[in-house]
Amino acid sequence: MSLLVVGSVAFDALETPSGRVERTLGGAATYFALAASYFSPVRLVGVVGDDFTARDAAAFRGRRIDLAGLERARGKSFFWAGRYSDDLTDRVSLATELNVFAKFQPKLPPHYRDSRYVFLANIDPTLQLSVLRQIRRRPRVVALDTMNYWIERTPVELRRTLRHTDILIINDSETRQLAGKRNLLEAAEHVLRMGPRTLVIKRGEFGAMMLRGRSQFTIPGFSLRNPSDPTGAGDAFAGGFMGSLAAAGRVTPDAFRRAIVFGSVMGSFTVERIGVERLRRLTRAEINARAREFRRMTRFRLQ
Ligand code: AMP
Repeated sequence: MSLLVVGSVAFDALETPSGRVERTLGGAATYFALAASYFSPVRLVGVVGDDFTARDAAAFRGRRIDLAGLERARGKSFFWAGRYSDDLTDRVSLATELNVFAKFQPKLPPHYRDSRYVFLANIDPTLQLSVLRQIRRRPRVVALDTMNYWIERTPVELRRTLRHTDILIINDSETRQLAGKRNLLEAAEHVLRMGPRTLVIKRGEFGAMMLRGRSQFTIPGFSLRNPSDPTGAGDAFAGGFMGSLAAAGRVTPDAFRRAIVFGSVMGSFTVERIGVERLRRLTRAEINARAREFRRMTRFRLQ
């Protein structure tokens, strides 16, 4: 099934306890597309500058990632720099240079306009809505990510876009902030009245939780001995989640639960190496083995 993503394609400078890189391919749409492409073909919408070379594009080559919607503009690509704390739980943004992203107006190539699964990565909610407006028939699933920046600065626009969203994929602090409530369950129930029927809460090393109607599904985090770099783990989670859902072609309770597991699997692999390195070198066998590991970790008999 056709899966579309709109979001940032960037260069990142990363400082982590296990090492640093001055400039590596990053961006939410990059992490999403690489992760999702293990499950389903992906159509990417974004913008890069003239510093984005064929070598950078090689990360996408040989995969089921359509780059027809990756616009090339004059100027520099989006640049982000971040530094992580020793235990990787905190990070500070050292630089956010929008560059060509500042004037970005997403344009869908004609053959993208029939997409049935859509992921609106963390960008201006007005741009997210403009993408949906270019799709001919209402997609089967519209999922959205956002962050504190948009929750604080564009609350009205975000609320409007949320009314057209089926699945909101955010972290626990964003859930609390969006709802203005401290208790996570109360906050989640409040958010579910804003439009999305499903809320997926990413909890980093503590796993993920999904709320849909009255049902709740929670899985733990996959503990890693040597986590290296959490950058993009949330986007890779969304990629595994949406890729798995699109591949299933059905939106049944089981398909949702499997999607949460594959999202967690892809997020956990991402953290193992710096940048997109691990995501570029995965195999389907490794992915499936880790999904089975999740099942082993959580299965138990009541008596
Ligand atoms: P995450 O770790 O899930 O927050 O995603 C990190 C990726 O998001 C990095 O590769 C950055 O290039 C990109 N990024 C950082 N800040 C922004 C922003 N304000 N808008 C869009 N993408 C961003």
